[in-house]
Amino acid sequence: MSGLYLHIPFCRSKCVYCDFNSYAGLDALIDPYVNAISDELAEPGRVWDGGDIFDTLYIGGGNPAMLNEALPRILKSLFAAGRLAPGAEVSIEMNPEDAKADVLENLRAAGVNRLSLGWQALDDDLLRRIGRRHNAAMAQEALVVAGQAGYSDVSVDLIFGLPGQSFDDWRSALERVIEAGPDHISAYDLTIEAGTPLARSVDPELRTAMGAPLPTEDAAAQMYEWTRERLVGAGYEHYEISSFARAGRRCRHNLNYWYGGDYLGIGAGAHSHFQGRRWWSLADPAKYIEAKNKLAGSEHLSIRQRLSERLFLGLRLVEGVEAQLIERELGEDPEKIFAKPLAHWRELGMMAAGPRLALSPGGLALANEVMVDFV
Ligand code: SF4
Repeated sequence: MSGLYLHIPFCRSKCVYCDFNSYAGLDALIDPYVNAISDELAEPGRVWDGGDIFDTLYIGGGNPAMLNEALPRILKSLFAAGRLAPGAEVSIEMNPEDAKADVLENLRAAGVNRLSLGWQALDDDLLRRIGRRHNAAMAQEALVVAGQAGYSDVSVDLIFGLPGQSFDDWRSALERVIEAGPDHISAYDLTIEAGTPLARSVDPELRTAMGAPLPTEDAAAQMYEWTRERLVGAGYEHYEISSFARAGRRCRHNLNYWYGGDYLGIGAGAHSHFQGRRWWSLADPAKYIEAKNKLAGSEHLSIRQRLSERLFLGLRLVEGVEAQLIERELGEDPEKIFAKPLAHWRELGMMAAGPRLALSPGGLALANEVMVDFV
């Protein structure tokens, strides 16, 4: 199993919480960027020796819709060159304001079969506060248009713990999402990333950001706990810390990351992994376009690093990972290497009972704290 990721680093404006490798105001670079990723895609042997047929493709960013008609062209050439396996999952991230019928229909005709809609919230004041360009009505309309355009596999992204968001706000948003009925829901806890406008706006004394009160850690944990119970009760399977899916609708592309699989990343700042070797491209879009050699760095992971990574990623999955499988792959038993942290977190009830290495519901809520011990 291997996945292909295409990174599109352009945005119409920057959301206040965003620290992704994405930029507003670089529209003039779009055409040369399309040429650069097309060139990179055309010569896979240069960096990728893992076979060049992929089971999944994920186009993310940034805002992929800003590539306009170049996007269906890229997809068609990937299919024509036989680079995507029959039945490949082909996902694209889409902001609600870009989810127009003709755009979605063209992409579907070009092979996209999964949409990830960035709703983030369903309160217009909240959406404005975090710098989004859509409102709640546009978010809901995007899901309807996606259905009309023939998409049967749609995911909705949400963020909880936003400044000014109360538990009731979150509850009301999630209830409306459940009513809208997407196949997949990703619910992320807000992370305040250093260097973002959101981080700069934090007043630690008043506990505010963007001028609004920040939910406490306890309040955010309560939102998470409730989300898990409510979505499972509504028929969604909780399969990864932040991910919930209807039967058969888990995101295969992301599962490949969490299983420690191989993937090729194309585009500015994209990362790749092939059997313990990792490499990444120049992050600056202008430099990426100009450079003949787009590689910014690479490393061979030691067995210890690979063990740590398998555990770190595998513990994100609710089903966890099988220690014996990792031992067969890497020749080392994670139960022995990580005996101390495992014993510690087991004693505190953060690990699930059973033969697999998995977090308990309490462990999932505190995953960031638990997982640093395996890095
Ligand atoms: S649209 Fe997405 S990538 Fe662009 S600034 Fe907002 S969160 Fe970041």
